[in-house]
Amino acid sequence: MSIEIPEDKAEDKHDQQKSSLAAATLYLVATPIGNLADITRRAVYVLSRVDFIAAEDTRHSQRLLAHLGINTKLQAYHEHNEERVTGRLLDELQAGKSIALISDAGTPLISDPGYRLVSQAHDRGISISPVPGVCAAITALSAAGLATDAFTFEGFPPAKQGARLQFLEQLAAQRRTMIFYISCHRIVETLKDMRAVFGENRRVTYARELTKTFETIKRLPLADLINWVESDDNQRKGEIVLVVEGRLEVAAENVLVDQYLKILLAELPVKQSVQLVVKMTGEHKNDVYKRALELKADS
Ligand code: SAM
Repeated sequence: MSIEIPEDKAEDKHDQQKSSLAAATLYLVATPIGNLADITRRAVYVLSRVDFIAAEDTRHSQRLLAHLGINTKLQAYHEHNEERVTGRLLDELQAGKSIALISDAGTPLISDPGYRLVSQAHDRGISISPVPGVCAAITALSAAGLATDAFTFEGFPPAKQGARLQFLEQLAAQRRTMIFYISCHRIVETLKDMRAVFGENRRVTYARELTKTFETIKRLPLADLINWVESDDNQRKGEIVLVVEGRLEVAAENVLVDQYLKILLAELPVKQSVQLVVKMTGEHKNDVYKRALELKADS
């Protein structure tokens, strides 16, 4: 890994860059997700030097800027005016202005506005410079204790249960770790839908209020996590990321499926045993049914 260290011996290394903030550039600046100390020095530098800052909620961002002693002008840029304002921002960039895009918290564009702006900036050949920092998804993943070699970001599941179940069912066979943003108002119902689709043993890391006073990080199988969240009102408040373990390797799952089937088939009819094992493991019904028949034939 290489890190660029300015050769300049200036005490404040940022001085060296003061003259180098590029004009006609769209900066995508990450801001903290709770702990204001998580702002980067480069973010402060860019935010205080650009011609103006496009922000999701100007009143909210004004508080951050005041805290940082920055008085750069703000321009509202959110999902309701995105279509109208994008063209104007692009024109300003092409006229030589430098603009920073920020969202209320974390990295812009990650479940936040900005995609249209960045995409069209590419179309118009405008230079784009990311100023990286915090992102709740990656922050949660780093602490989740689940596989990090391959993962997917799934954003917010749909609010309505029918659509949510369909959305989750499409992920039932996903082997990669999955990251979800969840509204605290829907945490229990979402966990229950996950249990129905992924099975009660699937491990999930619940990451709430990251970097804030009531930061809570807990990894449990879905059934236990639901009990824990239901038993403590505080766990249904604040901002939440769920990191869900991917479906286990077939070999490991087959052992589980076999174990459950053997116990259940000794007490219940095939159909009912299969239904329960599908619920518990998230395995496909046809596969479990086939295996149940094999076990029945062997016994
Ligand atoms: N752009 C942001 C980012 O980079 O993470 C995400 C914005 S999205 C509108 C807001 C969601 O991010 C919240 O509903 C929650 O799921 C997650 N989130 C943001 N801050 C968080 C925090 N401090 N702790 C846990 N989750 C957080």
